[in-house]
Amino acid sequence: MKRLSGKTALVTGSSRGIGRATAMRLARDGATVAVHYASNAEAAKETLSAIEAEGGRAFLVQAELGVPGDVDTLFQGLTAGLRELTGKEELDILVNNAGVMGGVKPEDLTPEIFDRLVAVNARAPLFLTQRVLTVMPDGGRIINIGTGLLRYANPDEIAYAMSKGALDQISLHLARLLGPRNITVNTVSPGITNNGSPVFDVPEAREFMANMNAFKRIAEPSDVGDVVAFLASDDARWVTGTFVDASGGTLLG
Ligand code: NDP
Repeated sequence: MKRLSGKTALVTGSSRGIGRATAMRLARDGATVAVHYASNAEAAKETLSAIEAEGGRAFLVQAELGVPGDVDTLFQGLTAGLRELTGKEELDILVNNAGVMGGVKPEDLTPEIFDRLVAVNARAPLFLTQRVLTVMPDGGRIINIGTGLLRYANPDEIAYAMSKGALDQISLHLARLLGPRNITVNTVSPGITNNGSPVFDVPEAREFMANMNAFKRIAEPSDVGDVVAFLASDDARWVTGTFVDASGGTLLG
């Protein structure tokens, strides 16, 4: 029996990158996975096909986060898919992965850019978590994808890091609330991770990015997805409210 057999999981933003690798790993571990995306249906279908090709079970959920009604749309798609595949509306594992980067110098920031980052990276996960808790059995798992920038200074990402700082607070405070239900809440913080963006094809950029971590190679999405899978498993039942550094030692300096 696989370690997540009989469990269900939602990975937001799993059409691509870290989310896709996480969804694939959770499915490989036996979970039925909701593959969520915003607009790239093609990529989401590729994730679904890859899971099914390995014998896993998954379904697609489309919902743009950071806009009015976002959580309602996602939750309706989620519960409909769960009912269809499992006959129930229970969700055991929530991975709040979908996010948008900033990349805006402090002097160029606007309230609109800030509000968008917070809406997608912090507000949507908070209210999605609130809603999902109505269908999460005791022993569930909530994993928030943070960033090494919570501990590593980069002025061009101040607004993004602030939004992820707000996300990280969900782990701290909800871990206390949900402990009596044996639900753990943690933040996994990646460093630079190859998400297929064109910068990862530029040799000079690759060398610079590889040299930022202790292992001197660029992280692949599965390097992070595997850490999430550990936290989703029963083996991590005694870990809650923590910041888990999945940056390959980037934060060692
Ligand atoms: P990608 O940019 O590769 O993919 C982003 C995913 O999130 C896609 O599935 C995308 O859907 C979805 N998404 C983006 N915006 C929205 C939105 N407004 N509403 C709903 N879904 C949305 O992501 P990464 O793999 O690079 O990053 C995943 C997470 O890890 C993010 O939270 C990011 O901040 C964090 N992170 C990433 C690092 C990295 O170096 N890659 C480093 C540190 C943290 P669609 O395909 O439909 O657009």
